[in-house]
Amino acid sequence: MKTYECDVVVVGAGPGGSMAAKFCAQGGLDTILIEKKAEIGAPLRCAEGVSKKWLEEVGIEPNPIWIRGDMKGAIIKSTKGTTFQLDESKAGSEVGYVLERHLFDKALAKDAAEAGAKIMMRTSATDVIRNAEGKVAGVKAICFGEEIEIRAKCVVAADGYESQVGRWGGIDTTLDLNDIDSCIQYRMCNIDVAPDYCEFVIGSVAPGGYVWIFPKGDGVANVGIGVMGRLCKGKADAKYYLDKFIAEDHRFKNGQILEIMGGFVSTCPGLDCAVDDNLVLVGDAARIIDPITGGGICHACRTGMYAGKVLTECAKTGDFSKKALMAYEKMWRGRMEDKLVRNWMAKEKLASLDDETIDQMIVFIKEANIGEVNVYNLLKAVKEKFPKLVEGFEDLI
Ligand SMILES: Cc1cc2nc3c(=O)[nH]c(=O)nc-3n(C[C@H](O)[C@H](O)[C@H](O)COP(=O)(O)OP(=O)(O)OC[C@H]3O[C@@H](n4cnc5c(N)ncnc54)[C@H](O)[C@@H]3O)c2cc1C
Repeated sequence: MKTYECDVVVVGAGPGGSMAAKFCAQGGLDTILIEKKAEIGAPLRCAEGVSKKWLEEVGIEPNPIWIRGDMKGAIIKSTKGTTFQLDESKAGSEVGYVLERHLFDKALAKDAAEAGAKIMMRTSATDVIRNAEGKVAGVKAICFGEEIEIRAKCVVAADGYESQVGRWGGIDTTLDLNDIDSCIQYRMCNIDVAPDYCEFVIGSVAPGGYVWIFPKGDGVANVGIGVMGRLCKGKADAKYYLDKFIAEDHRFKNGQILEIMGGFVSTCPGLDCAVDDNLVLVGDAARIIDPITGGGICHACRTGMYAGKVLTECAKTGDFSKKALMAYEKMWRGRMEDKLVRNWMAKEKLASLDDETIDQMIVFIKEANIGEVNVYNLLKAVKEKFPKLVEGFEDLI
């Protein structure tokens, strides 16, 4: 069997994996990044909306190659038709660009390669390798149909929502059913939507989630929905709700579908612990994704970067033990945990509201003078007017 040796093997060339590989390689570590698919970033499983601010934090320079649209702001809509339009100065931290995700992901992988990481495509991890002490020592994989082994001092699991590497490594990655939203999205053309605003519709149109319309220019948009299974009526699923929404909105009357994709997002506040001896989980694999928006590209990039930085430090002493890797836990929790927990609780509350209350909230938010509109500031305003809605997590607001 062909065997490779390296310092770090990263499983999955999504944003989390490519960022981890880039920072490991930059830190001088011999890094292999494996990807099971034949193309990085495809097929698409994303609405492609990101905010702008975090890009600088993780050292990504905005590039017109992967920016499809520069948004002026966002529109939040109730099912009763009340809209709240916010421009970019107010919505700065929640909207920004609509990406070409297949180009964005490739650009990050290219950065990793330029930093020195070796990329192995069509290479699917099938299990972890364990050393004599029973600790993770790399991965087994199938590369173009051939069984191989990649022995490494540390494994980074960046294998996304369906992550198996963490479980193989002994980390419990199971999700509560309440913390899973199922999604479906159509790339639609011939539709009449605002070209430079991302639209979010909340309420019974999308039980426990929302409908999104993210414009791609020229009468084309990603029109999708995320729903919480337990709140769907009878046999209705995400497709049922999306089709109903589209059928009832005149802007789609001439619309045609160019592409369909489905997927799941976790909506919990992250794993209890995303490291073990010689093993780090990043991005969706670590369930680190905004529970209220389902946005996880920035979380994947951040956690990938943190993992790369921590592994670089670990390499100096050769210690990749769980204890040493707790520095990574500390980093991501310090930066994101409060927000993840707050948004997780807010998601639970939002899911319990009826259309009337959501409408009243949007009317209130529209009239209230909220500086920058982000989940935190919205909740702060809501706390004053509707204290019952934030009961139980007031201290996080
Ligand atoms: C419908 C939908 C819409 C979304 N919209 C948005 C949005 O608008 N904005 C936003 O910020 N986020 C959005 N997200 C979430 C976002 O896509 C993820 O949070 C993000 O892609 C996480 O990055 P990642 O690197 O952790 O994982 P992924 O991007 O999922 O990458 C994982 C990679 O690992 C590979 N892989 C898996 N298993 C193996 C294996 N065994 N061996 C080798 N390779 C493997 C996969 O092929 C994949 O390339 C959306 C998600 C869904 C499902």
